[in-house]
Amino acid sequence: MKLTGDNCAVFGIIKQNDCVEDIYKGLDFLQHRGQQFCGIATFNGNRIFLITHYGQVRNTFSSQELDSFKGNMGIGHVSLNERQPMMWQGAVGEIAVAFSGNIINREDLLTEMKDRGEAFYHGLNIEIISKLIMQEKNIVAGISKLSEKIYGAYSLVVLTHEGIYAARDIYGFRPLMLGEKSGTYVVSSESRAVQDIGISKCRDVMPGEIVFMSKDGFETKKQLESHRRAHCAFEWAYTASMDSKIDGLYVQEARNNLGKKLAERDLKEGGIKADLVAPVPLSGIGHALGYHMFSGLPYQEVFLYNRYADRSYTQLTQDARERMAQNKLSVLKYATMDKIIVLCDDSIVRGTQIKNKVRGLKNAGAKEVHVRVACPPLMYPCDFGISTRTYEELVARAYIPEGDITTFDQLKGLEAWIADKIGADSVKYNSLEGFVSALNIPRESLCLKCWDGKWPMDKHK
Ligand code: SF4
Repeated sequence: MKLTGDNCAVFGIIKQNDCVEDIYKGLDFLQHRGQQFCGIATFNGNRIFLITHYGQVRNTFSSQELDSFKGNMGIGHVSLNERQPMMWQGAVGEIAVAFSGNIINREDLLTEMKDRGEAFYHGLNIEIISKLIMQEKNIVAGISKLSEKIYGAYSLVVLTHEGIYAARDIYGFRPLMLGEKSGTYVVSSESRAVQDIGISKCRDVMPGEIVFMSKDGFETKKQLESHRRAHCAFEWAYTASMDSKIDGLYVQEARNNLGKKLAERDLKEGGIKADLVAPVPLSGIGHALGYHMFSGLPYQEVFLYNRYADRSYTQLTQDARERMAQNKLSVLKYATMDKIIVLCDDSIVRGTQIKNKVRGLKNAGAKEVHVRVACPPLMYPCDFGISTRTYEELVARAYIPEGDITTFDQLKGLEAWIADKIGADSVKYNSLEGFVSALNIPRESLCLKCWDGKWPMDKHK
């Protein structure tokens, strides 16, 4: 199964003076959510001005380009797969639209809309979303319509001449939050982009909520009925930055708890005589700290992170991912030599990256490497905007081709098989129950499809 949507992030701001520098900073802080495309659109008091690029914000926007943006309000986007924002003229006026998520029934919608005579540039998700919004008499009605037409996940921003609309799908798959301070109003996929431009008062956009931002503040224009929440549990374990807070839960707190659960399991199963616990940077840091706090094992970095390398998981091809994975970490030999190491990581997708890490540590003289994984084994692809694409890419599926892990013996069998495959002395995962209890969010408010295969809504035919 090939999916079309991918990890990405949105940002929007209204303030009393020029806003482009804040959008640039906001996108820079959201860059971990997608590095392939970036874009900024501002309203200069007369018209909307838009520039998009292939590449990262910091490497692509020149100072001349940034100087050419004028205006007190605007939106931005970073993405793995689609060039956004997109600008449109219609009965609702001139708008620019950006979204984060994935439309699962994209092909059906495209066919239906083409049959009605609509034309598309490339048939991208963002084109479908924009056109659906513009078909209605106003933006609120257009965004409301999305919940009837779109099967999938979306957090979006719409820049108009009057202000910015922000909305989240009725399940709240992807995060979206609001922040304000002294006449500045911000919407962002993650709170880190807000706190790092000096804004402290924040709240989440509710699933199904449509908010209008203007120079006068936030106004909830509509609250669509939301039968259940389905916050992506993978956000806390991997996708989001550790300094963010999503739907009331700090990412750092979640990762510490997940690490503690791993240490708890080791203790229950007889303990482990190790010299140190170490993270796979960056997303393994919170997990390793949690393991350290519970076990009392010294915390030590064994890899130096190359801050100039891209995040490997969000590269488009397997080759690019593996090349990047090799480039981004170097082993700290002094910390590693003759040591028994507990190595914490967020998840194992394909297994190639963790295999390289274990090999690197062993080559540097580590006596033993015991891998501890915060997420339970990934058994199902994501359909809601995270780039886990096919069953074939999930290493756990090579061991259990069908069905779920239902017994502890099955889990132990998989762990021993993966340990052998990646050259580790042992591998242990959190169980799904342990994972959910570490997040401390009701199970029925989470999307856990990566692990249990259950669709949070009725399955699309
Ligand atoms: S399938 Fe997995 S990655 Fe996708 S939204 Fe659900 S929990 Fe998140």
